[in-house]
Amino acid sequence: MSSERRKILPLDKSVVNLIAAGEIIIAPSNALKELLENSIDAQSTQIEVMVKDGGVKLLQITDNGKGINKEDMPILCERFTTSKLVQFDDLKSIATYGFRGEALASISHIARVSVITKTNQDSCAWKASYKGGEIIGGETDGIKPVAGKNGTILVVEDLFYNVPSRLRALRSHNEEYSKIVEVVSKYSIHIENVGFNCQRQGGGGYDVNVRQAASRKDRIRSVYGSSIANNLIDLDIEIDDETRENYGLVSCKGLISNTSFENKKTIQPIFFINNRLVVCDPLRRAVTSVYGTYLPKGHRPFIYMSLTIKPENVDVNVHPTKKEVRFLNEEEIIELIVDKINDILKNLDSSRIFMTQQ
Ligand code: ADP
Ligand code: MG
Repeated sequence: MSSERRKILPLDKSVVNLIAAGEIIIAPSNALKELLENSIDAQSTQIEVMVKDGGVKLLQITDNGKGINKEDMPILCERFTTSKLVQFDDLKSIATYGFRGEALASISHIARVSVITKTNQDSCAWKASYKGGEIIGGETDGIKPVAGKNGTILVVEDLFYNVPSRLRALRSHNEEYSKIVEVVSKYSIHIENVGFNCQRQGGGGYDVNVRQAASRKDRIRSVYGSSIANNLIDLDIEIDDETRENYGLVSCKGLISNTSFENKKTIQPIFFINNRLVVCDPLRRAVTSVYGTYLPKGHRPFIYMSLTIKPENVDVNVHPTKKEVRFLNEEEIIELIVDKINDILKNLDSSRIFMTQQ
């Protein structure tokens, strides 16, 4: 058969990589989330984010974590290279954020990536730059000794320089920057014992600044302000053995606003499931609607909730950006949480009525 009749041709590898990268990284905040999770996975206690032009020009993240061995640097940005997942079965019990070894590879296909990193066994830091998944300058010449502290500085420049369609689809620099601030804010509330800050390069000071030692309530105070922090109640739902066995819900903790919290702005509920920042619309709708009975019309709650669900019941791999998480017995689990919150709010409300009647 003549080759002119062939219509189905394999895509060039570079095109495949670009497409794959574009599925994971839609906006600078997606890249930032991946980098943030890498820094948390590396057991950092201080994570600093610097942004220019909404993250398009520059996304820089500095951590004081374990660092990367020089020997691992040549393949750092190759696809499916990870220090975290060895067997497919490990996915069931994955405790780190990363597991697919895809993030840095993807970013290096759509941006200029460089890394300066030092482990505590190294006497100096090492620097390398990457393009299209590969180290620039090769294994031997591409890695240069530089001065540096323990930890890793990851610099992402000119995001989407080769994907004009993605670049066009972005919002304004200010809007992209606020999405970045939102991601840093939410992680800074959830991840205790880690200090976080986030700023624009060359101006204005910190937009997020959470001290390492801050309690969770103080974390919320520094990100969302005192009016929220002063109106929070602890949520720690007791889970009996039966629920744990039948539904796989292990724990449900968090901080939620009380019934005297006066606020008309929508504050998107913050949900972490097994330590991942997720969007869970059924849960969001259900929890928000419980408050409907207790808050004056038009007022909205603040909700931060962290669920632990048996890892084998959770599918973290449904969405390329890992944002959406599915879990078994979703309806039953949501009902249980909603009932509990309803009880708490009901009690608060009746004690308030009781107090005002005295
Ligand atoms: P994944 O997180 O899925 O393993 P990534 O592409 O995000 O894949 O990262 C690849 C590897 O690079 C990680 O497994 C880790 O070993 C290393 N790495 C990335 N960022 C850091 C960091 N900030 N500190 C230490 N190691 C890192
Ligand atoms: Mg990762």
